[in-house]
Amino acid sequence: MRRFKAAMQRSQMAMLLAALSGSALFSNLLGQPCCGQENETGMGVGFAHVEITPDVKNHDVWMAGYAPGRKATSVHDPLFARTVVLHGPTKRIAIVSLDLVGFQLPDVQTIRSELPDYDHVLVTSTHNHEGPDVIGIWGRTPFHGGKDPAYIRTICQRVVQTVRTAEKQVRQVVSRFGVAESEALIRDSRKPIVKDAKLRLLQFIDSKDQQNIGVLVQWNCHPEAMGSRNRAITADFPATTIKVLQKRLKCPVVYISGAVGGLLAPPSEGVTSKDGTRLATGDWAFAERYGQMVADLAEKAVKSTVPVRMTPIGVSSKQVSIPVVNPWYRVARLTGVVKRPGYQWTGDPYQFGANVRLGDFFRRTAIVTEVNYIRCGEMHLVGVPGELYPELVYGGVPDPAEAGADYPKADVEPIVMDLVPDERSMIVGLANDEIGYIIPKRQWDQRSPFAYDRRRSQYGEINSCGPDTARFIMNGLREAVLAMPKEK
Ligand SMILES: [Zn+2]
Repeated sequence: MRRFKAAMQRSQMAMLLAALSGSALFSNLLGQPCCGQENETGMGVGFAHVEITPDVKNHDVWMAGYAPGRKATSVHDPLFARTVVLHGPTKRIAIVSLDLVGFQLPDVQTIRSELPDYDHVLVTSTHNHEGPDVIGIWGRTPFHGGKDPAYIRTICQRVVQTVRTAEKQVRQVVSRFGVAESEALIRDSRKPIVKDAKLRLLQFIDSKDQQNIGVLVQWNCHPEAMGSRNRAITADFPATTIKVLQKRLKCPVVYISGAVGGLLAPPSEGVTSKDGTRLATGDWAFAERYGQMVADLAEKAVKSTVPVRMTPIGVSSKQVSIPVVNPWYRVARLTGVVKRPGYQWTGDPYQFGANVRLGDFFRRTAIVTEVNYIRCGEMHLVGVPGELYPELVYGGVPDPAEAGADYPKADVEPIVMDLVPDERSMIVGLANDEIGYIIPKRQWDQRSPFAYDRRRSQYGEINSCGPDTARFIMNGLREAVLAMPKEK
């Protein structure tokens, strides 16, 4: 009941903020020391990027997403690791975004071991479906791993290098936060239709000369505009979004993907070019036009920004064990296509069992992943290690459950907007890991009869560790939020 009341107060506050935003009164309010300071000092920010395009001429590079056996034949545009470092008065964090399908936690830990002077290194992937396999399941055949350890080592080295380069660029900043929304730019291909159509943007401005230092953009869409037939390495539509924004704002851009589960993708009916031509998946003009439209939305967000205080920085991470029930994932471990360490499932997501060797198919195996809550002053960053269904951000899980769902009585998991205090938040999907879809248990629907009177299951479960994944992730996130020390 108290939680309900608190949620009500929060939503009323959010409505009040929304009503006031853009008004002179709001700007004046935000000028006061209590909430966002124009002259904030103590926050140093630096950006850098480095190329991580694989060598398709001298190596077999297997492309990630869709089915195995898609060998890259050329490079359309380069892939990058893009970094922003945030240096607060006492804590330093680095946020790195990779133009990849999903960088795995064991590889993120390799990067972190080289950056011990950082309180937190957050490595996220855009979930690019037109880049190389960095997980292993998209090799030559389903029985051949597609992950190249030498390439992974190169990425790790270059990410460390880009953090060190960004450090050299650190300037004292004032920060601004803005949101713009477009339902039309997103398709949710799975019922219930719940989208995260908000583009969230943090802008950092040099406190001395008022120049843009850089922006951090969060949008929520599978980078798969080029589709399953493309064999040219590309960063997909974010390549254009970033290029256009960098030109318009005259500063570096780090692009991150938020809650893309469900799954959220570019509109299936395509988009219209400036001269009225219909453009659709698989066409470079479509990827570019869609990327441009996302950049336009980001520019709208820039215009809506208000000052936000970004210090002090607090970090709360929690490691969570997730049982791997999915038979395909288990076969991938059995065949060595995925070489990630596994642990005996103990029944408790916070107790990690003994190591389970790769070929052991029958032991109940779990993987260890991580959830994160980073508070930068008035900003809240939530990191989830996979593709979060937007129902777990905003709510919208059917209540009662849809007839035919496999677990109609399952408890509804905590949602992000109930965990973080207000709307000044960013959601970082595929944060430090990619464990697949994070599906509300009540929407799990693999067994006949199926929900929504469907004759076949909806797509999703085949790319999830199992029906309890969302419960363990969202409960872990709640623990991480509760463990955050109070701001003094
Ligand atoms: Zn996906």
